[in-house]
Amino acid sequence: MPRRLLVTSALPYANGAIHLGHLVEYIQTDIWVRFQRMQGHEVTYVCADDTHGTPIMLRAQSEGITPEALVERVYGEHTRDFFGGEEALRSGKLGGFLVSFDNYHSTNSPQNRAFCEDIYTRLKSAGLIDIRSVEQFFDPVKSMFLPDRYIKGECPKCAAKDQYGDSCEVCGSTYSPTDLKNPYSAVSGAAPVRKASEHHFFRLSDPRCETFLRQWTQGGEHVQSEAGNKLKEWLGEPGENKLADWDISRDPPYFGFEIPGTDGQKFFYVWLDAPVGYFGSFRHYCERVGKTQAQMDAYLRPGSDTELVHFIGKDILYFHALFWPAMLEHAGYRTPSKVFAHGFLTVNGEKMSKSRGTFITARSYLDLGLNPEWLRYYYAAKLGATMEDIDLNLDDFVARVNSDLVGKFVNIASRCAGFLSKRFGGVLAETDAAAGEVLALLAQSAQTVATHYEEREFGKAIRRIMELADAANQYVDAQKPWELAKDPANAPRLHAVCSTAIEFFRVLTLYLKPVLPRLAEQVEDFLNIAPLSWSDAERTLPAGHRIDDYKHLMTRIDTKQVAALVDANKESLQPTPAPSPARHAEQQQHAEKPAAAAHITIDDFAKVDLRVARIVNADHVAGADKLLKLDLDVGVLGTRTVFAGIKSRYDPEQLKGRLTIVVANLAPRKMKFGTSEGMILAASDDSGGPFLLAVDDAAKPGMKAK
Ligand SMILES: [Zn+2]
Repeated sequence: MPRRLLVTSALPYANGAIHLGHLVEYIQTDIWVRFQRMQGHEVTYVCADDTHGTPIMLRAQSEGITPEALVERVYGEHTRDFFGGEEALRSGKLGGFLVSFDNYHSTNSPQNRAFCEDIYTRLKSAGLIDIRSVEQFFDPVKSMFLPDRYIKGECPKCAAKDQYGDSCEVCGSTYSPTDLKNPYSAVSGAAPVRKASEHHFFRLSDPRCETFLRQWTQGGEHVQSEAGNKLKEWLGEPGENKLADWDISRDPPYFGFEIPGTDGQKFFYVWLDAPVGYFGSFRHYCERVGKTQAQMDAYLRPGSDTELVHFIGKDILYFHALFWPAMLEHAGYRTPSKVFAHGFLTVNGEKMSKSRGTFITARSYLDLGLNPEWLRYYYAAKLGATMEDIDLNLDDFVARVNSDLVGKFVNIASRCAGFLSKRFGGVLAETDAAAGEVLALLAQSAQTVATHYEEREFGKAIRRIMELADAANQYVDAQKPWELAKDPANAPRLHAVCSTAIEFFRVLTLYLKPVLPRLAEQVEDFLNIAPLSWSDAERTLPAGHRIDDYKHLMTRIDTKQVAALVDANKESLQPTPAPSPARHAEQQQHAEKPAAAAHITIDDFAKVDLRVARIVNADHVAGADKLLKLDLDVGVLGTRTVFAGIKSRYDPEQLKGRLTIVVANLAPRKMKFGTSEGMILAASDDSGGPFLLAVDDAAKPGMKAK
């Protein structure tokens, strides 16, 4: 029975360009969606621009335009990058990165507003909204409350000037905005004052939410197991409710929706209306294609037999697996069927970087004439079902696309199609009986490949498909049609061999179609067949079927194109304004309380000999791209040599003379570059690091930390 699915990708924020990091998610979702459609399921894939909040408001002000004008312009840019613009979506002739949304809308829409108001009102009736006074930094010149990232000042640790309210970019310390010395507003420059205001909270700590979320997140049904473990940490042990209430209101001026009944004095925080935007976009779709209220309700009411599937990045798991389902459950809506989280993109093994030119925009990729299906293929080959990060290695990208897609896949058709059109009028013969085993192998792989796609194990699907392509190529290599073609007496044999190769090519195209939709369409034209669906794997093209002339299907990537891409995205090493960190900072305000590990006794802790150490010398290690070699003075314990994975953040020169903490009784560890006699401590998480621990200057090397 066909399934009915409402599928979403997270909403991109409307203050910047789409880059290759974003595209991991849209390509991942699109492949899955296209696969489900090929199975005959009914899929509605919706998304929207996330348009509200302080960063948008301030950015529009700085450009001298209204927020509405800003988000409209960005909407145009995003939709062109994703699928070639709104026209393309309506006509079905997708461009851009070929993301096949059924609807792409905006959170700043009447549809979204209606859902936000409804959900809020129902939560309020359920007693799950509280109003409390909160004191925050306030800019007296702009008359606005300041999010952490809009407060700057001197680092309380190293006194560096112009540091943000949450962390120092010079010494790496983190702190709260109230710790800054001489704080000032990054918006107006004025000294902020502390001011109280009433805020609306969603009572996530209510036992009803906790009970529901324990069952919802731990049933093994809605989230990946690693996400389930993370959520368990956030929830705490039964009886230990670690969930904090969520501040869902902001004071004006704010670009967003007014909270009903507050007389324009309170607005919904952008993170409240962003996930609701999935429903807003879906309603807009239903209105656009003329669905009835009942048809729409069938997707959104509790107990619905449809599936609601969210693809997200692992950084927004808290919002999608705690706030969102708890809100829906208690506002009388259905809850998500699945929340699938993926990891981040690295390029050449490192975080994307503007100075290295690896912060690559979708627009530059397309404008330089690179084929979007190359990237779709590469991401597919790298993607699995976990939250692990994926790496775009640019050399590997060129090598793999050229060898797999051009060398193995397209090659099958290009070597055989010419003989068919020149010698046999494009008409196919019966397939070669001697190829029966390979043909059967291809057809029988339909289930395996389908299972991999269904489980989001795209890398496994691609590996299987390329094994099949290898088998097909071995057949062609062994039969040598180019040799057969030399003797007219071999014509029937040549005809059968080439017809068989075309059949191989058809089945491989079918398996690759979720990843390479445009190429698949060209192949369908060339083969003169209806759009391929999954069940076509069971059939073969009959003898007598006529195909068209072969046209060139895909070119190889030239390394020069990739070099040009990196060049085009390279920005000077001069400091640039922080890349819209406000978004991240805003979400952190209400992100999780850090999960603590299980309890240990004081005796357990005492086993670890932590000592103050002075870094006497620091050096690069030849051949190691993450390590620095540190010589430590540990006072009474003498000197130690330690290898530390902190090269990504620290210049050896900067470290000399600095105090830090070393685990002095860690068993020495033999490494490729020498023996490490201990371990220094540094902090990190998904948002950054490593940040070396600092010790007050008056401390002496060798002192015990306890
Ligand atoms: Zn500092």
